[in-house]
Amino acid sequence: MVNLIIFGAPGSGKGTYASRLKEKLNVEVIATGDIFREMIKKDTPLGRKVKAYVEKGLLVPDDVTLEVLKENMAKIPKGKGFILDGYPRTLEQAKALNGLTKIDAIIHLVVPDWIIIERLSARRICKNCGAIYNLLFLKPKKDMICDKCSGPLYQRSDDTPEVIKRRIEVYEKQTQPLLDYYREKGIPFVEAKCEKLETPPEAVVQEILTGLKKLSLA
Ligand code: ADP
Repeated sequence: MVNLIIFGAPGSGKGTYASRLKEKLNVEVIATGDIFREMIKKDTPLGRKVKAYVEKGLLVPDDVTLEVLKENMAKIPKGKGFILDGYPRTLEQAKALNGLTKIDAIIHLVVPDWIIIERLSARRICKNCGAIYNLLFLKPKKDMICDKCSGPLYQRSDDTPEVIKRRIEVYEKQTQPLLDYYREKGIPFVEAKCEKLETPPEAVVQEILTGLKKLSLA
């Protein structure tokens, strides 16, 4: 059983890699961004509140986020590990997580800004199953149709240049300092670099798995 956090700027590929690592490591993935988008889609009262933040590229308040995390952690079958994608994003959230569970390692995605901006503007997502595509280098076989479930693809409303810029700023200011927090705690890091736009996800996943094996976590 292994508990991991995947860190990286918006568009660094957290969701893409986490969903692939899920199969290989037999863990659950908790992606707070996905959970919030689902709540917005269902138009629940909390979903309406959350929408205002997500659409602006701002962080959803910590109390709401922590409740959502706890609810989803409780659903993980006993004995199964997890990857957190998109949580924690603030020091407050990291401290709250500390009281809930132990973390075995941090996966840190290192991706230059220019790749992030190119990727996010070309990102498309399946409305039905959430699979992630990219019109540049991870194209669906049929135009705007999901390879896996034939659902329609759409562009996230926060993948616009202005909101992308805000999300990157928020990441640098509020989330990046958490890397030091975990380093100081002595949690091991697995770094994965992506320096080319065309690097296939599988190559990065392999790099992560190699790092986890060195730590005897895969
Ligand atoms: P990305 O990492 O590409 O920005 P996510 O899907 O992880 O995308 O998150 C989308 C949005 O959901 C964020 O911009 C933020 O508004 C909200 N969000 C997700 N996770 C958190 C969190 N842990 N705390 C606060 N807000 C969050």
